[in-house]
Amino acid sequence: MFDHPCFDAHEGLHLFHDSKTGLKAVIAVHSTARGPAAGGCRMWNYASEAEMLSDALRLSQGMSYKNAMADLPLGGGKAVIWGNARTDKSPELFRAFGRAVESLQGIYWTAEDVGLTPQDLAYAAEETQYAAGLESGHAASGDPSPITAIGVYRGILECVRRVYGDSDLNGKTVAVQGVGKVGADVCRHLAKSGANLIIADVNEEAARRVAAETGARIAALDDIYDAPADVFSPNALGGSITSQTLKRLQAKIIAGGANNQLATADMGEALRSAGILYAPDYVINGGGIINVAAEISGNYSRDWVNGKLDALMDTLRRVLDQAVQENLPTTEIAGRIARQRIGRAEST
Ligand code: NAD
Repeated sequence: MFDHPCFDAHEGLHLFHDSKTGLKAVIAVHSTARGPAAGGCRMWNYASEAEMLSDALRLSQGMSYKNAMADLPLGGGKAVIWGNARTDKSPELFRAFGRAVESLQGIYWTAEDVGLTPQDLAYAAEETQYAAGLESGHAASGDPSPITAIGVYRGILECVRRVYGDSDLNGKTVAVQGVGKVGADVCRHLAKSGANLIIADVNEEAARRVAAETGARIAALDDIYDAPADVFSPNALGGSITSQTLKRLQAKIIAGGANNQLATADMGEALRSAGILYAPDYVINGGGIINVAAEISGNYSRDWVNGKLDALMDTLRRVLDQAVQENLPTTEIAGRIARQRIGRAEST
């Protein structure tokens, strides 16, 4: 375990099994140096136990970095449930998951991630006080996606200003991969600012809806990489930036809400040397976790959320400035700042 490639001095790795409901879950706590470990719960039909474990380790580390970059009093953690989100769900399964979360006594706070709905989380919250992102109850703030989208939109403007001299989007084209909760809202903000949009989504209905609303042109799924665009905005699943897709991109900027956009760590340097400005995902998409943090505080305030979002944009500017000054990938600078903030400046 301690030699696992995804192990990064995680503080705790907790395995849960409930034979009555079939729950098989892992809660990984990467760091509590800044506060309770917070990060969503993902339900996924992993091919193997090993794959599930790697995902939990990797995602919880990512949450430490994201929470640190957003300067939140939260550490990083993540829960994964092994199962098919379409066929294996039951209220009892999520109640059992809630009991698992509760047993950690606040070391870990859960929320929604891929595969979970607000209703699933509500079942878990029947058994634990350590669930956020709820739609009702004390300090509930609902879906964090609109706040995530505002951060992504502002990050795009910042990158456009740096590459093109001003942040005017009129006449600029943005290719948006994935128009779900975050991507659709990003499109709305961009369209209002005069950008032309090219969008792609596996969900054709979602793409049609967003196109009707924003005037976007719909591209075939794989064609989005070749779209004649100034900005490429990944808002679907991770891993879309590979050495292959990079060759096809025409955009000078990559800035989007998806987690883990770079398929491999060396893509940071590949993007830098290709002259593409990359806004590190765990910086630009921190709006949602800021909203969740406000909820966890028990005293939700939109003003506080807005202030933190402003500070996050300052951090993005610092990352982009330093990357230029030191001639290093933005990913390297962001990683260094995050590790300093969680007291792990020595790790690589
Ligand atoms: P979502 O499920 O609402 O949207 C994702 C969309 O991507 C869906 O419409 C889906 O059909 C589409 N999609 C999937 N594979 C695709 C592909 N290959 N090509 C094109 N489209 C594809 O999820 P979301 O909440 O909008 O999150 C989007 C991304 O942002 C995820 O990576 C998520 O982890 C990340 N993220 C979300 C938040 C948030 O607040 N929701 C916060 C931080 C990061």
